[in-house]
Amino acid sequence: MGCERAIIHVDMDAFYASVEQHDHPQYKNRPVMVGGTGGRGVVAAASYEVRKYGVYSAMPMTRARKLCPEAVVLPVRMSRYREVSAEVFRIFREATPDVEGLSLDEAFLDVSASLALLGSIETIGANVRAEILRRTGLHASVGMAHNKYLAKLASDAGKPRGFVHVPRDGVRSFLDPMPVSRIWGIGKQTLPKIQKLGILTIAQLRKADPAVLSQVFGKRTGHFLALARGDDEREVVASRADKSLSREVTFDQDISEPRELLAELQRQVESVTGRLRSQGYVARTIQVKIRDWRFRTATRSRSLVAPTASTEVVYKQARVLLQKWLQEHLNTPVRLLGVGVSGLEEPDERGINYDTTAQKVLDKTLDEIKRRYGDNKATHALALRRNKIPRED
Ligand SMILES: [Mg+2]
Repeated sequence: MGCERAIIHVDMDAFYASVEQHDHPQYKNRPVMVGGTGGRGVVAAASYEVRKYGVYSAMPMTRARKLCPEAVVLPVRMSRYREVSAEVFRIFREATPDVEGLSLDEAFLDVSASLALLGSIETIGANVRAEILRRTGLHASVGMAHNKYLAKLASDAGKPRGFVHVPRDGVRSFLDPMPVSRIWGIGKQTLPKIQKLGILTIAQLRKADPAVLSQVFGKRTGHFLALARGDDEREVVASRADKSLSREVTFDQDISEPRELLAELQRQVESVTGRLRSQGYVARTIQVKIRDWRFRTATRSRSLVAPTASTEVVYKQARVLLQKWLQEHLNTPVRLLGVGVSGLEEPDERGINYDTTAQKVLDKTLDEIKRRYGDNKATHALALRRNKIPRED
């Protein structure tokens, strides 16, 4: 026992695409892309069948379609993915309360305290994976180790349907042959510099002279050497919900009409605050992101005195931010618009913090309709003024 930790990293395989293949069995074993289908749509997820063609997520859909014209292209159904995600996270929490979600389909589980009750780390990892398959019909990759960094590398190493345990005495043989780019924090900036020193693998980094490394890493030399040895002391921080929620849309065609932008903003606020309410949180800060036709991006934010999850309250604040930008950039075509909330907290006795009871009733009704019939079935009237449905990417 002692301070030895047991960390499992679980990552669903091609999550959105796999949910679609599961819900539409006719697309099983076929190349499937999920994402925006409009002119500027982006691939949000690619099934393993389509990745063979060089398609990856965040790629423009037009390019992806050229690489694999026979691929099935499906729209993003975020509410469905959230529903499956909730089930997957329930399974995680049956193994341990110490679950740190990284996204809808990925989490760290600290199962150190569960070992006595549920068996070895491999037993728990195997059970989690089997339970996910049984209850959702989906495959996950599982990585197991005594810290987060190794557990994450282990699940990546096995993908898809991976099951990799890195025991203490196997750390060196696991890490050494890997390219240095696999180390967390070695990004596009640092990688060429370190490669210039002749360091290509993690083994070479581990054995390198710290004085030489410090030319590239500076004060962080010790940190990167520790990672090269497989050392990582960070704790699993149990999270109950996302720390921030956001939604953004790249338009098929740039929009400069303020009324249209405000209608889109309303839709986004509804989506974000709906998620906020479904997770039982209120938010303190509201942010609006605007990218114009020349790719200049502005983010504007406001903090509230009283945190809220009300669509109307958040919309009013977001509208002020957008209108201020519009005044400063008259007739500037907008390419992307997004809204986000952060500073999430549990509501106090005032609850969601509505200005009026009518707002509360409206939010509740819309949440219920959306829950039953899907994201696009109901909206505040203002959002309907937009003449076409935006694409999500
Ligand atoms: Mg995944």
